Formats: sequence, structure tokens, C-alpha cells
Amino acid sequence: MTRVLQAYQFAVDPTPAQDGALRSHCGGQRYAFNWGVARVKVNLAQRDAERSYGIPDDQLTPSVSWSAYSLRKDWNRAKDAVAPWWTENSKEAYSSGLANLATALKNWADSRTGKRHGRMVGFPRFKGKRNALSCRFTTGAFGLSDADRRHVTLPRIGLVRTHESTRKLARHVEHGTARIRSATVSHRRGRWFVSFSVEIDRVDPGPTRPDAVVGVDLGLKSLAVLSTGEVIANPKHLEIAQRELRRRQRQASRRQGPDRRTNTTPSRRWRKAAAQVARLHTAVAHARRDGLHKLSTRLVRTFGAIVLEDLNVAGMTKNRRLARRVAGVGMAELRRQVEYKAAWSGVRVHIADRWYPSSKTCSACGAVKAKLRLSERVFRCDRCGFVLDRDLNAARNLATLVEAVGGDGGELRRDSPRETHVRPALRGQRVPPREGPSGQRRCGNAPAA
Ligand SMILES: [Zn+2]
Repeated sequence: MTRVLQAYQFAVDPTPAQDGALRSHCGGQRYAFNWGVARVKVNLAQRDAERSYGIPDDQLTPSVSWSAYSLRKDWNRAKDAVAPWWTENSKEAYSSGLANLATALKNWADSRTGKRHGRMVGFPRFKGKRNALSCRFTTGAFGLSDADRRHVTLPRIGLVRTHESTRKLARHVEHGTARIRSATVSHRRGRWFVSFSVEIDRVDPGPTRPDAVVGVDLGLKSLAVLSTGEVIANPKHLEIAQRELRRRQRQASRRQGPDRRTNTTPSRRWRKAAAQVARLHTAVAHARRDGLHKLSTRLVRTFGAIVLEDLNVAGMTKNRRLARRVAGVGMAELRRQVEYKAAWSGVRVHIADRWYPSSKTCSACGAVKAKLRLSERVFRCDRCGFVLDRDLNAARNLATLVEAVGGDGGELRRDSPRETHVRPALRGQRVPPREGPSGQRRCGNAPAA
């Protein structure tokens, strides 16, 4: 049994009155956030100005504390004056905005002092009305409805009908294996969601083939290709939504869109088509994610070790070729899912080094090609003449990566993250093909050299 923090998200269908209350709460969250930003900004500017007059540091206006606790305390002192309407919403709305601000300020400060890695984080900006609506509840009455499995409870707002059954979480709650810690409501692309952060006791079955290794290559045409030779097709919904998306995009392109150079405002018909395109983009994203979830669950339930690629996702998402971008995003999402699910069921995850040429290497003889264009869908080895589907070849290479290091079994502590990075240097010490699953690699199209 593992205790994990997991999110359960439900699309909800609030009544018009509830929709208003939800908007009001999210507005309160935004208001408190902006109030805090202004307060900190003024304080920083004041201190900067004083410094420029040569006032010594110990005589400056004291700095405002950025902790969520102090921000909340200050807000409570000021709220009657700055927001006399504050009683209309749960106080959680304001706390949630101030907590977000405290995190944002911390990220900015850590990023400036080099404590935080990655891209620079800017100073928190004022939230406009066009920003995504959201509000978190950490205290008060929230959770699932006791009466049925189609409602959630929110403080101040009451019972809100869910768009789908809450069965999966409800079972955990009824069995006492789940504790709901917080509830976040958000509005995205025209729809309300409630996401519960849940502490959950999971019992996951181990893989059915604990000794088996699988390499996974995300395909462009199919969802994925496994080193076992299995091709996992895209979910049917995805194909349908993508076809519909292309149609609607063509439709939108024939209508009068906005143009800043000529100062053209979009036509009503263009707006309609654009809204349809946006909806379909959501549908495509959901269908793809659903397919990846089904795949990642199946992988961790079947194989003892999973090998994925460490793609330069940040670089790939900048790629202008849509197909590559999509594959890159999919790989990052699959990796995220496989990693946390593998930790639940005791499966090892290996991430191949970013520079490992999985596509360019021959899975029969190990020769590495200098160049392989993305349009070449079939791998042909120049040295041994081996011919195989491009993605399957890559998947097999990934699987071999772990087999070659001897599956690095043995060292499997329960509390350590089951993840290893396989460096390409290890490729030099390739073990000769063994009998069994790796021995079969020589069959097929490989001619005797
Ligand atoms: Zn070869």
C-alpha cells in the first residue's frame, strides 16, 4: 500500500445562480491577489526610492512580509476598507489568491537569487479579467455528496451537479482510503471543473511480467510502438476529432478574421467557427491524454521495466512542424504518467539519455546511421541490410539499452525512486545478443551478412 497525493477532477454543471457564485469567488480571489501585488509593489518602489536618496538600509521603510500568513493578516485588517463586499464570498476565496501570490513572489525571489533553476520567473503581474478563473478551498464543507454520486459540495455554493459520476473517488471515501484535502474550482474553455486534492491509500497490483523489459517509441501516425512489435493505434475519438478539427479550421479560414494591420474586426461567422475550433482543440487534447493514460496504465501493469526517451521537449515544442511538436508533448506527458504510476506498482523506469540515437541505430547490428530523415518511415541498415519499421526499430533499441546493462536488477529499494538514467557510453559495451526475446531480433528481415 502506498499513500499518495492524487487529484480527482470532475467537470461540473452549475445552475445559473451557482455559476454566478463561482464567478464571484474567483473574482474575489483575483481581487485579493491584485491587492497584494499592489501592496508589495508600492513597498518595493518606496524602498528603492529611499535608497536612491542615500538613506541607510536600517532606516528604510520596513519591507512587507510576503508569507501567505502575513499577507492574509494584512488583508483581514484592510478588507473592510478596500473590499466592503467581502462577506459575499467565502473567506477562502481571498486566502487562495494570497496563497498564490505568496508562491509567485517566492518563485520570483528564488529565481532572482539563483535558488530556483530553469527559466527566469518574473515579478507577479496583475491578473486581468481575461485570466483563467480559479479559486481553492482548503477549509469548510467541501467534498462529495453523500446522497448520490452525481454531486459535489462546495462551501457557500452548496451541491453542484457533476457532469460525470464521482464513483471512483466515492468508493475510496466510503472505504476510508481517501481524505480530501482541498478543492479547486476553475473555469477553462467555457466549462467549470472541480479538482479535489486527495490523500489516498493505493493498492496497486504488480506487473504481470516482472522480468520483461519494454521500449516505447511514440509514433507520429500511431500513438506508440512497443519493442514487442505491438503498435498502439490512436484512440478512435482522437482520429474523429482531428478530422473534424481540420474541417472547422478550413471553414474558419474562409471567413472574415481579425487583422490588426487593416484594422478588420472578425465577422460573427468567423467567431462562431473559431469557437468551434477551440472546442475541438480541447477535445483532441482530452482524447490524446485519455489514450496516453490507458497506455501508461497498461505498461506498468504488464512490464517490470519500461524504457522511454528523454526528449528535448522544450526544444521540440518550439519546432514549427506540428507533428513533431505533438509527439514531443505526448512523450513528456507519457513520461510523467509512467513515472508516477510505476512508483505505485514497483515498476522500474529507465530514461534513455537525450543524445542516444534510438532512431538512427540498427537494432540488429548496432551500426549508427549519420542521418535519418523524419520522412523515412522504414529503417534500412547500411551495414547489415536490416529493414524494419522506423518506430519499432527505435523501441527495440530502447529496450536493449536496459537489457545490455543487465536489467540492473537487484538494487530495488522500496523507498527510492525507481528510475535510472542510461548513458550512451554504455552502448560501447553491448552484450552479444542473448537467447530468448533479444535473440529473436536476428530473425525477420535480417539477411546473413
Ligand atoms: Zn545493421
